[in-house]
Amino acid sequence: MLAYIGLGSNLKDPKAQIKRALASLSNNDGAKLINVSSFYESKPLLEIPGPNYLNAVCKIETKLSAIDLLDLCQEIEESQQRVREVKWGSRTIDLDILLYGEQVISNKRLSIPHPEAINRAFVLVPLFEIEPSIKFPLLGSIKDLLERIDKLDVNKL
Ligand code: ADP
Ligand code: MG
Repeated sequence: MLAYIGLGSNLKDPKAQIKRALASLSNNDGAKLINVSSFYESKPLLEIPGPNYLNAVCKIETKLSAIDLLDLCQEIEESQQRVREVKWGSRTIDLDILLYGEQVISNKRLSIPHPEAINRAFVLVPLFEIEPSIKFPLLGSIKDLLERIDKLDVNKL
């Protein structure tokens, strides 16, 4: 299965945090890293105080089920000392499953496509960079989705 994961960090050397998470993904038997976008900088959402964010998107090929992939993402978050405080607050690392093949999943632990992905330039811009012709199940092409949002706030490093 092909899947896309969004990575974000705004604490403790964000570039190193994202690189470390990518290394953990590619060192896992269940997943093969196929492509990684550039790194993009953006300001915190909703003007929540805190350092700027760094985000990237990667493409993986995986044998894991969607829920096992979520477990892997959460293990990686924990291994990088992510502490869950306020929703959308500062974090050392955040791994979100954006897309899992063309599947639509909605249960207590998992919503795919990731519900916020289509509203966030720091997700859509890097995803477009590595997969310009991708379509979100039910939601349409990334090109059309990108046209609805403000892209000014993300800057490629
Ligand atoms: P956020 O990413 O919104 O800042 P968290 O990373 O703390 O918040 O995630 C909160 C919960 O979101 C997780 O416990 C997870 O079960 C759930 N979740 C739902 N859908 C997804 C997804 N597609 N990818 C990652 N987590 C998800
Ligand atoms: Mg998350």
